[in-house]
Amino acid sequence: MFQLIPVYSAGLIGDPVAHSVSPAIHDAAFAAAGLADRYALWPTTAAELAGRVAALRAPGMIGANVTIPHKQAVLPLLDEVDPLAAAVGAANTVVRLTDGRLRGLNTDVGGFGRALAAVGYDPTGRRAVLLGAGGAARAVAYGLLWSGASGLVIANRTTQRAKTLLGALLAVVEGEPYLRALAPDDPDMAAELRSAELLVNATSVGLHGDALPIAPALLGSHLLVVDLIYRYTPLLAAAEQRGARTQDGLEMLVQQGVLAWEAWTGLRAPVDAMREAARQALAARR
Ligand code: NDP
Repeated sequence: MFQLIPVYSAGLIGDPVAHSVSPAIHDAAFAAAGLADRYALWPTTAAELAGRVAALRAPGMIGANVTIPHKQAVLPLLDEVDPLAAAVGAANTVVRLTDGRLRGLNTDVGGFGRALAAVGYDPTGRRAVLLGAGGAARAVAYGLLWSGASGLVIANRTTQRAKTLLGALLAVVEGEPYLRALAPDDPDMAAELRSAELLVNATSVGLHGDALPIAPALLGSHLLVVDLIYRYTPLLAAAEQRGARTQDGLEMLVQQGVLAWEAWTGLRAPVDAMREAARQALAARR
């Protein structure tokens, strides 16, 4: 009987990467599909980025994920960038095409959309409030507007950052959705949340400890509250207490991985194996 020899053909490019559960997710998928591929962690400084990306052109490589702080800087190093990643201005996935050329994708956007679909939420024609204006918020904002949301209110501690994101969205969005940037403690937040059906936390508040990114009294039972953090956060607990539906960040994490894995392999991803691996890896980290 012959044995498959493991080969690191994909990996995570970023700094830092040691905390990542992506190896667990992708290795579970490779194993379930009977592939010998393995997923590596590639800690990469800004100075090393061009060399690391060029190495993906080698035969045997299938691609990479890209994380903080390189999602934007990677774009000019690629041969082509799909329209969504170009509009967002960030790629989190690189696919090595059969001829060695490299294509950039943004599977954070699609992963978020698929996570919403998993709980039966269609953003089309509905308003959302988004907390945060960093990288994750950017993917969520584009995803919602790309899907035809009728409005998006971005609330961020640094209001100027929310305004800058709004400006970038205005440059690419079609139609005339209701768009607004404000501070999370703005008195208008109550009214904005009453008009919305979805609240997304894309800040890192709730990652540790019991802080909430928004006053719990503002949460209503009409909302779906999604927290991108991969744990049951104080925000999700407060939302459930007020009768709202909730979702944590695990499904988005898994679905962005599913889209990347399918782009690398051309196969249908073993989603259940990937979700279970993510769950176990996150539980082991706590
Ligand atoms: P960034 O560093 O790019 O952005 C962080 C955001 O959090 C900013 O809006 C920042 O506001 C806000 N913030 C940080 N600390 C505070 C605070 N004390 N009070 C109020 N606001 C604060 O990070 P990312 O966008 O990459 O990640 C954000 C979160 O999303 C993380 O928890 C990450 O784990 C999660 N995530 C989940 C993913 C998934 O697949 N589920 C994918 C990517 C991220 P300011 O601009 O004022 O600094």
